[in-house]
Amino acid sequence: MPVTYPKNRWAWVEVSLAAIRKNTRAFKALLEPGVKMMCAVKADAYGHGAVECAKVMRQAGADQFAVATVDEGIELRRGGIAEPILMLNESPLESLDDLLEYDIMPAVYDSDFALAYGERAVALGKVGRYHLAVDTGMSRIGVMPEDAVEFRHMIEFHRGLECAGTFTHFATADVIGDWDFKQQAQRFADTVGALRQAGLEVGLAHCDNTPGTVLHPEYHYDMCRVGIGLYGLQPAETTAPRISLTPAMSVRGRVTRVANPAVGEGVGYGLTYRVPKPSIQIATVPIGYADGLARSLSNNMDVIVNGARARQVGRICMDQFMFAVDVNSVRAYKPAQPVQRGDIVTIMGRDGDEEITADELAARRDTINYEVVCNFSERLDRIYV
Ligand SMILES: *Cc1c(COP(=O)(O)O)cnc(C)c1O
Repeated sequence: MPVTYPKNRWAWVEVSLAAIRKNTRAFKALLEPGVKMMCAVKADAYGHGAVECAKVMRQAGADQFAVATVDEGIELRRGGIAEPILMLNESPLESLDDLLEYDIMPAVYDSDFALAYGERAVALGKVGRYHLAVDTGMSRIGVMPEDAVEFRHMIEFHRGLECAGTFTHFATADVIGDWDFKQQAQRFADTVGALRQAGLEVGLAHCDNTPGTVLHPEYHYDMCRVGIGLYGLQPAETTAPRISLTPAMSVRGRVTRVANPAVGEGVGYGLTYRVPKPSIQIATVPIGYADGLARSLSNNMDVIVNGARARQVGRICMDQFMFAVDVNSVRAYKPAQPVQRGDIVTIMGRDGDEEITADELAARRDTINYEVVCNFSERLDRIYV
């Protein structure tokens, strides 16, 4: 398997920028001309590397970017991203100068925050652009629909403020024919209508996330906020038949040691696995839960080595884990060749005909693919291929 890997460590995250490009183009193709695409690159682009991904997405059609924190926005600006950046939340008042200096638009829903932001904007000789967040039913952030017009009137006088967008977020966009989804969509349409009726500039109206963009094109409005799909992962089973995506992230390591413990010897903390027969090799890989490989996957995941699956055994440690290869196996796992120090091990991704997906790891640890990719920590170098 031809791979590049970092100099100082036998463990890394591989990110295919070609996959990011392809997925971004696939979403752009779903949008009518004139509808903008905001790419969510929060949480370091769901673990894929924010600046590198944003640059590729920009080439492939991204108009704007979304982050979750001030520092994520600053990182994009320092990395040379000049497109509009929306922070999908409010931040502490102490951060207002950074928002303005780096031109990061906050989501706004608290009048004290909005007015303080406007004050700092005037003091710095700038205009504080923001997007109004509306809580249409997720009960997370935003003004209530019935308060939206009054809220805008309350802050409208401020010459330091400019509304560049109005948005909401769906709780059930992945469910087809869902009553709650329709109610949220209706409340959003009513709120945007009421704001316009009151003569207020709403800026770009937007509500669809990845599943909404795929399943509910009637709610694309002026912009879609696409996240997980850009990284090649399906947000739900419902979207899979509607758009073909290519996973961008793989996680790999190299074997640091191979042993043949005697039958009955144990592996790892607590010795939760015992060697059952003489043909078992125990191999070690230098990735652990400090790298985001959840400890709950212990004795409950496979790896791919030399194109065949092998079972992870023993508890996953902070920095390392072990797996077993039965060199005499002829059953579920292909007759494996002996493992050697230096062999490449795939924890997530493809090797030959075998593939371990983020969805497989998510199912094994009872979470969603979003959390699996976000968890792979900064300690693992990102290698772009
Ligand atoms: C994260 C996020 C998105 C993107 O969600 P995906 O499901 O990854 O497409 C869109 N909007 C808001 C408000 C978000 O927090």
